[in-house]
Amino acid sequence: MAEDRALLVGRFQPIHKGHIHAVREILKEHKEIVIVVGSAQASHSLENPLTAGERVYMINKALHESDVDLSRSYIITVPDIQFNSVWPSHVRSYAPPFSIVYTGNSLVTALFSEAGVEVRHPKLFRRPELSGTRIRELLIKGDDSWRNFVPTSVAKLVDELHIRSRLLSILEDHDRQRLHNPLANHGQ
Ligand code: NAD
Repeated sequence: MAEDRALLVGRFQPIHKGHIHAVREILKEHKEIVIVVGSAQASHSLENPLTAGERVYMINKALHESDVDLSRSYIITVPDIQFNSVWPSHVRSYAPPFSIVYTGNSLVTALFSEAGVEVRHPKLFRRPELSGTRIRELLIKGDDSWRNFVPTSVAKLVDELHIRSRLLSILEDHDRQRLHNPLANHGQ
């Protein structure tokens, strides 16, 4: 039944305790949740270091650790498309039927609202510390406090998958490119 199924759209780079809080709140209101792992094609960049598969892996373990009912939760991956105005139908073609979307992202809000879908904003929990950007920054700095902001199972997978080394080598590539082409980041 579409009426009681809600979508939570994100990139989950990586999933953190703020996302888990949002999932719990959504499941208080709705029978089922569909977690949409957006930008599925993206990985190995500073903004999107993790592959879609790694994100699904982490989300599943994080939900399990947090005692979220997995029988009420779907995790799907959706690649980005160039054509923003048809993106809501693109998401529909990947997802089980749903009637409501949860997002804090203004573009996602605009696109689904214009497509006639009700959009709600999850209440932000412990911002600014619970943020993917902050966690990736701390990882790069070698500041272990990021471990407090993700479930233990996610911290373990970040270690096992060597995500810090991946981020550092992406950063090195960026720095090297900037050195060889100083105008590269000033094109727009
Ligand atoms: P994100 O992982 O940064 O955030 C996901 C959501 O989690 C946020 O919107 C917010 O509601 C919630 N959240 C974050 N921190 C929280 C906290 N501390 N407490 C409670 N809730 C918290 O993901 P995002 O960047 O918003 O993801 C949007 C996705 O949609 C991207 O993958 C983007 O590419 C995709 N998209 C694609 C198109 C297209 O392909 N044309 C168009 C629009 C959006």
